Amino acid sequence: MADTVNTLPFFYGNIAREEAEDYLRQAGLGNGLYLLRQSRNYLGGFALSVSHSNRCYHYTIERQVNETYAIAGGKSHRSPVDVIDYHSQEMDGLVCLLKKPCNRPKNMQPKVGPFEDLKEKLIREYVKQTWNLQGAALEQAIISQRPQLEKLIATTAHERMPWFHGPITREDSEPRLQNGARVNGKFLIRQRDMSGSYALCLLHEGQVMHYRIDRDRNEKLSIPDGKKFDTLWQLVAHYSYKPDGLLRVLTEPCPRPDGEIGPIGRPPLPRDHPGFSSAFQSAAGGIISKIKTVPIPGIKKRQGSRQTTTHKPNVYGITVPSNQIAGKEAMPMDTEVYESPYADPDELRSSKVDRSQLFLEDGELGSGNFGTVMKGIYKMRKTEKPVAVKILKNDDNNASVRDEMLREANVMQQLDNPYIVRMIGICEAENLMLVMELAELGPLNKFLQKNKQTTIKNLTELVHQVSMGMKYLEEHNFVHRDLAARNVLLVTQHYAKISDFGLSKAVAEDQNYYKAKGHGKWPVKWYAPECINYFKFSSKSDVWSFGVLMWEAYSYGQKPYKGMKGNDVMQMLESGKRMDAPVSCPPEMYDLMRTCWTYKADERPGFSVVEPRLREYYYDIAQ
Ligand code: ATP
Repeated sequence: MADTVNTLPFFYGNIAREEAEDYLRQAGLGNGLYLLRQSRNYLGGFALSVSHSNRCYHYTIERQVNETYAIAGGKSHRSPVDVIDYHSQEMDGLVCLLKKPCNRPKNMQPKVGPFEDLKEKLIREYVKQTWNLQGAALEQAIISQRPQLEKLIATTAHERMPWFHGPITREDSEPRLQNGARVNGKFLIRQRDMSGSYALCLLHEGQVMHYRIDRDRNEKLSIPDGKKFDTLWQLVAHYSYKPDGLLRVLTEPCPRPDGEIGPIGRPPLPRDHPGFSSAFQSAAGGIISKIKTVPIPGIKKRQGSRQTTTHKPNVYGITVPSNQIAGKEAMPMDTEVYESPYADPDELRSSKVDRSQLFLEDGELGSGNFGTVMKGIYKMRKTEKPVAVKILKNDDNNASVRDEMLREANVMQQLDNPYIVRMIGICEAENLMLVMELAELGPLNKFLQKNKQTTIKNLTELVHQVSMGMKYLEEHNFVHRDLAARNVLLVTQHYAKISDFGLSKAVAEDQNYYKAKGHGKWPVKWYAPECINYFKFSSKSDVWSFGVLMWEAYSYGQKPYKGMKGNDVMQMLESGKRMDAPVSCPPEMYDLMRTCWTYKADERPGFSVVEPRLREYYYDIAQ
């Protein structure tokens, strides 16, 4: 796809948003003037920059799982060009129609982002190999953890670059640069010693210049007195863009001789290096593996081991990403509850839980009208799972509560997503019990009330995960009807799951809303106007609740509309007023909340729009 796009005169390649605005400005900022560039947030995606009323607007064109392209939440098309053709005819959410391409200046080639495709491939392989994931679980892991995964692979991606020649000497490097075309700016990088220092060798007017690249105490790489970088490939990307102290910019990578393919004499990991060491099998397909050895409560245990988590190392290399797994840095995929309990049909054949295999522990996780929630262990054939067990209290008058619990179980049974608490099964014994995945850190609102130091990045990561779970519900025609921070449970500080499906309903595809028969015991402060006025519930009304949930998250678990009665809230909303932004809430996120609180359901975006908007913001602040 990149090849076809590359030939478009209005495609600028890997340029920054500011550069795009400069080009549009130079071309006069006419209404509907546009250019296409490579997305810096979405690997394999593009960005469309459009001018209108003397302002520039930027839209991400995502590459979707099925290889189609769409502006977030919009119609899918076969290629980015088709997206542009479509929006030349239809605004469909854009600020204006695309009228005139802003072509590249003469002799300018699209700017190359040499690592994008490779990065994508490496991330995919890494996730596949490390967590043994595939299909939707693989995609969801990449979407939710892309910034972390990019950082993980970034430190080793240079090994796959043609310009990385490994531990060759200064003398060996010179003939390599002098051979073949002696283009000014031709370059390679060699490894100088085993302590993580390198040299950039650059051809300039027939001479080879050697610049040292040292690693400082903070692991940053730099040419003496130059800009600092986390990775070699970022350094190369920067000096390919501007000379910044070098005699000239880097132009052409000097390829490694045939057959010399990474890994090439890797230096030992520097002291306390946070990264991981990878092993790349061959140019045809790298294999990265790691071993996990640090015992963390709630973190995945395999083969019955209760203390360690071991991912089989392959023959090419071993990695011990010590601080990656340590406590709060663990990714969702490191936990017991990322992978579907239904993934192995031998383990969960039926939704009936055998009481003799269920062991309840002391201490309540929580309670409600129905009874209590206890922690437990469910012993299955091959593994044992830590679980949460909702236990219906035994009294004679609770037939309706029992029905409610069975209805909740029935909904949960149909859902299978990493960002939703999954049901393991129902156990009918001394009490009726609903056995679920355990999310030990409990409700989001309570967690945030106690952990006010949680960063905005962390909040956004969690809220984004909730939007992913909600997007799944929307796609499967379920409405939650009780989405609130109290019903988002944390597995770790970096892993949220939606819970409490007591009010949830499946909706008919053609109708797409659920009509309640009457007013119930409702969480009205989380409800959209149409729920209260017409008893109508849809994914769009869940979006309204999601806006309130976001408000709760960015205000660290405060109560929404504090001190107000339900009726006052309704009046406030009818008059067009909305809650103010929480104190430290980023404007982008408040803007999104306000969009979620669009009065008319028809004009309110769905989760297919909300999730990519959150994703984009999360990637922006996380990278
Ligand atoms: P009610 O319907 O009476 O309002 P509820 O719907 O709030 O009760 P839940 O939210 O399902 O009940 O559970 C009550 C509490 O139990 C939660 O707030 C949470 O602290 C704990 N809990 C529930 N499910 C889990 C789980 N899967 N993992 C860990 N804790 C849980």
